[in-house]
Amino acid sequence: MKKIYLDNAATTPTDARVIEAMLPFFSQVYGNPSSLHAFGQEAKHAIEEARYIAAQFIGASQEEVVFTSGGTESNNSAIKGVAYARHDKGNHIITSRIEHHAVLETCHFLQKQGFHVTYVPVDEFGLVDPADVKKAITGKTILISIMHANNEIGTIEPIAEIGSIAREKGIYFHTDAVQTFGHLPIDVGELNVDLLSASGHKLYGPKGVGVLYIRKGTRMLPFMHGGDQEQGRRASTHNVPGIAGFGKAVELAKQEMAREIDQLTLLRDKLIKGILDKIEYARLNGHPKDRLPNNVNVSIPYVEGESLLLNLDMEGIACSTGSACTSSSLEPSHVLAAIGLSHELAHGSLRFSLGRLTSEEDIDYVLKVLPGIVRKLRAMSPLYRKKAK
Ligand SMILES: *Cc1c(COP(=O)(O)O)cnc(C)c1O
Repeated sequence: MKKIYLDNAATTPTDARVIEAMLPFFSQVYGNPSSLHAFGQEAKHAIEEARYIAAQFIGASQEEVVFTSGGTESNNSAIKGVAYARHDKGNHIITSRIEHHAVLETCHFLQKQGFHVTYVPVDEFGLVDPADVKKAITGKTILISIMHANNEIGTIEPIAEIGSIAREKGIYFHTDAVQTFGHLPIDVGELNVDLLSASGHKLYGPKGVGVLYIRKGTRMLPFMHGGDQEQGRRASTHNVPGIAGFGKAVELAKQEMAREIDQLTLLRDKLIKGILDKIEYARLNGHPKDRLPNNVNVSIPYVEGESLLLNLDMEGIACSTGSACTSSSLEPSHVLAAIGLSHELAHGSLRFSLGRLTSEEDIDYVLKVLPGIVRKLRAMSPLYRKKAK
């Protein structure tokens, strides 16, 4: 059976060229990069090369790039690191209602420690209004954290504008760029960010490695205590194969990003149009224009997202849903709730996230299979039958 992977926002396949670049660091160049002998120094050289590539890619300098275990650690480290270091200045943090759990749960944790957090709303497209961020600032605000692009609905936030507000007030600004790093051009200077998170496995690199950009002079406490790796900002022996793989993934992104943006945008728009044309009552979630080139998120009323997902899976198509009947909470996605979707629309949501390996035939196949599945499920839905009468 044909197998079509349209869940690249959850994770991407590791590029074969990345795997090849990682292999020597398991069995040949296995030294500890903190060791002074040749085994260690060769490994250290590989790390510094990856650091140079990652820094260049976002307009940063090498000393500003710290390797971590992934997006979750980068987000935790940025937010807790600033919160603890600047507690003397204030205890207020501003973030949005549609952040990834790695940001939201970190903020919830800090609230239990006595910090105050404002969760600014978003509009129907998922956009944060910079004016809302400005209004939320108090004399005690020490950090603003707003994601670059949302992982569920693909909306790209006005980061540069929010950053300039933060800069003006002398407040640190962090952005979770896990969905954009390697997919859209990023310049930390233009975006006015002090801290930026990225993750290897979202850009065709390996899982378990990420980056935290920390602008020079930013005061924060380390998240991991131990050795003095990463200039004391992140203890633990380096994940050398992972970091080498991250560097290679960024190098490939640099070469292929512009072409991929064009190609994915075409395929994305074809899939959106096809779904809206072929499926009655279907609607697009997220912003029609300010959205990730690979993100399609739709609500299909009168069907359950899980049923759609499992039926698509039986046809070899992998995607995801903001419905949550299989998770412990039963609450649909906080992102879909924040853009004002009813429970019903949220439960009927599907996210297709396209990637480097997605072809036009894949999109055609989805458009061939999905309407039939929707028809079949709706025929069993009492709600739909009532509506049809
Ligand atoms: C995947 C993701 C994360 C978490 O990254 P990990 O490397 O899996 O820990 C954080 N933020 C966003 C927006 C993501 O999509």
